[in-house]
Amino acid sequence: MDDTRIKNILAGVLEGGGKLTVLTGAGISAESGIPTFRGPEGYWTVGSKVYQPQQMATREMFKRHPEHVWQWYLYRLGVCQGAEPNSGHAALAEMESLLGSRFALITQNVDNLHLRAGNSSQRTFQIHGNIFFVRCFAECRQAISPLPKGITGKGRDEKITAAEKELLRCPLCGNWLRPHVLWFDETYNEHYYRAAGALNVARETSLLLVVGTSGATNLPLQVAAQVYAASGIIIDINLEPNPFSRLAEQSALGGFIQQPAAATLPRIRDILKSLLKT
Ligand SMILES: [Zn+2]
Repeated sequence: MDDTRIKNILAGVLEGGGKLTVLTGAGISAESGIPTFRGPEGYWTVGSKVYQPQQMATREMFKRHPEHVWQWYLYRLGVCQGAEPNSGHAALAEMESLLGSRFALITQNVDNLHLRAGNSSQRTFQIHGNIFFVRCFAECRQAISPLPKGITGKGRDEKITAAEKELLRCPLCGNWLRPHVLWFDETYNEHYYRAAGALNVARETSLLLVVGTSGATNLPLQVAAQVYAASGIIIDINLEPNPFSRLAEQSALGGFIQQPAAATLPRIRDILKSLLKT
């Protein structure tokens, strides 16, 4: 897609008073050096057994091995703490400040990079949670809190200490705190993950940018299907063809940009900026 086509699409969205929604996945974070954790980086040994990420990130596993699951998350936390938002993240933060309530961000990423880049938590729908936050595993209350002070990322083989174990207790009921993330054996809900809110946003969306996600999970596909059904425009920015790129190519005016997010999003931000100036 050349700049003129993108400019025409954005001009149409601005004139029509429609909403720009961006849906992001692991691809944009991979450009900041964060692995997907669905691959070998996510494999974990407990005793003599090797577990896959799809087994580690479950309520069932946490029930049986809370310390090991925490150790796995604190390793991932360390990787996220060591990464920096890239120019793609920065472009999205700027798009939000340009468009205000006409902008929404729906992300599958739990690494906090969007909020660190400057997107607001109000307009960022973190549909899989955020590993920098915790909540009570026993759900004695449904509050979501930042990681306790004193809890920080760890190296791959570092065990959690007795002091850290104490900090990872619910201050109200004494049960374990858990990472505030959607596990593979759990379902989306509105209170923790704003799932219904994300679908409502999709209904009001004139242009959907899909960035770095291959559609492995259900809700993102529903968001795109919703935009498509309401004749919205879909642009997919991804390194590989995927279900979203096919939908984007079928959508009116939309298309597939087979480029990195860190190169493409600043380009779209610049076009948006030039339109808002005139
Ligand atoms: Zn509790």
